[in-house]
Amino acid sequence: MTELLITYPAGSTAETSTVVAATRADRQLLFAVERTPCHPESPRWPDQPADRCTVSTPGRGEAVAVAVECLEGFLREGELGVGEPLDGDGAAQAIPCVVHRAPAALAIDVGVEVRLSVDERYRRLVSASHSRCHLVSLALNAALAAAWRKEPPARDSLGNPDFDKLAIVSSRIDEAGSVDVYRIGKHVRKKGFSADALSDPEALAQEVGRIADGWLRSNPEIVVTPGRCRLEERRTWSCALSEGIASFPCGGTHVTHMEPEDRPVVSIAWDPEERRLAMTASAAGDLTSATGDLTNAAVSVRQSVYD
Ligand SMILES: [Zn+2]
Repeated sequence: MTELLITYPAGSTAETSTVVAATRADRQLLFAVERTPCHPESPRWPDQPADRCTVSTPGRGEAVAVAVECLEGFLREGELGVGEPLDGDGAAQAIPCVVHRAPAALAIDVGVEVRLSVDERYRRLVSASHSRCHLVSLALNAALAAAWRKEPPARDSLGNPDFDKLAIVSSRIDEAGSVDVYRIGKHVRKKGFSADALSDPEALAQEVGRIADGWLRSNPEIVVTPGRCRLEERRTWSCALSEGIASFPCGGTHVTHMEPEDRPVVSIAWDPEERRLAMTASAAGDLTSATGDLTNAAVSVRQSVYD
């Protein structure tokens, strides 16, 4: 059985690879390759948007690159589908994979060698936002460590009470930054978290920024492992900080180093009525309008979950 591998966890942005499945339906072509560098958005936790990708067929003298969409999908009995397979016959046989969607007229069929390329600038910006997003989550855990009145049910990789894991409802990342939305519901408060710690969101944001800034002074190295694997394989982001190795389960893409210039500008909004906290992080000097859009997006994501 051919393995369908992803190489973006290791940072790859281009691969020449053989098409192993191609399905034409509704004037679209869906195809999968042995090795793809294209990161699709996860339908289960849609934090990082899909890469911007193109395909060409250099082996056939066709160097013109055509835009392709990349999506999570599956291969079953030689046919490709987008999203999750429906229950019933054959669902258990479906192999999760990245599905590339292109116009049906493209001469791409099983056995053809294609070149897939990712927009590198967009990838780099989104990856930096994603790395920053994990660092500020860990810094938020550290800044809120004293807000726990009893032993928390989970601690993060640095040993702090894992507020992020226990309260997060959505995370959105783009080229300009990220916004994480948390809900401090009964569940979190019952576990011993005191929402009094959120009474001064500006001071909290400053403290989170200060902690993350301290970490960035050592230009910490970041790695995602495994760097090359099947789509459904669990991957881990880790970052070597002076406190120890920080780590997170993560399906996205990251930069290999964080520089002090990447230091985050953090802002926190706390809505005590909704018991909702939104934390945005962007690189110093980044477009604030984009993170404004993100905040609105996060609000609507939260509403769709809770209202
Ligand atoms: Zn992640």
